[in-house]
Amino acid sequence: MQLFEMNWPQVAALSKDTPVVFPIAALEQHGRHMPVFTDSLLLGEVIRRASERLAERVLFAPLMWLGNSDHHLDFAGTLSEAPRAYLDLLETLMENFIQHGFKRLVFVNGHGGNIVPGQQAVFELRQKHRQRSDLLLLSATYWGLGGKPYEVDPSIKQRQMGHACEWETSMVLRLEPHLVKDHPHVTPQEFGTPFEPASRGWTIPDRSTAGHIGDPRHASAEKGEALFQCFTRGAVSLVERMIAWDGWLASTVSWMVPLG
Ligand SMILES: [Zn+2]
Repeated sequence: MQLFEMNWPQVAALSKDTPVVFPIAALEQHGRHMPVFTDSLLLGEVIRRASERLAERVLFAPLMWLGNSDHHLDFAGTLSEAPRAYLDLLETLMENFIQHGFKRLVFVNGHGGNIVPGQQAVFELRQKHRQRSDLLLLSATYWGLGGKPYEVDPSIKQRQMGHACEWETSMVLRLEPHLVKDHPHVTPQEFGTPFEPASRGWTIPDRSTAGHIGDPRHASAEKGEALFQCFTRGAVSLVERMIAWDGWLASTVSWMVPLG
């Protein structure tokens, strides 16, 4: 179900155990060879495919295209909400649907800069509603779902998501090939993370002058299709686990998970 197609009595009549998915993405530079709307295009396709499989069992909010992209602001065209305001925005989206009575809410994210705000938003909301053991508040990033794409398609070389990289370029080639410019001649850019496992505060110019991170030269539409299938499977599986949740067990299990 798509929220943008519904009227309020239809939403009010839904079972409040219906999972609600908030797709969150970005509009930011993606190197010289890829469009600024890449993250929103790609997440939109994962969500479109997942919503076909999940049909009437799940409610999808419209994709939020504005993300936390301050680290890309040295490059023209980037639009970003400041980190703290973005955190408030995410919390407000979920809070609105908690007020409407819904209990199973998830951010499905398509942009690296949204990972920490998404996790922080569900953390803070859970503390705010700490008496509500019937709430299931989740945040997930699509490329972290659905296993390892390079095991599904061994021609995929990259082992992690980069930026305007083999993975993202392949998916845009699958979706909107006319928006990709001369990727076979892009100079590869190392991931460059010598301080791991420390988390570094960084801007894109700290890591890349052209704006991409990774190696898009061998991207292809075929790899893009394999990536979409892999990530869609992961998104569908996550939402099916939300549907199957008995409204109690997960809150008990969380006590048994070792806390780092
Ligand atoms: Zn991206």
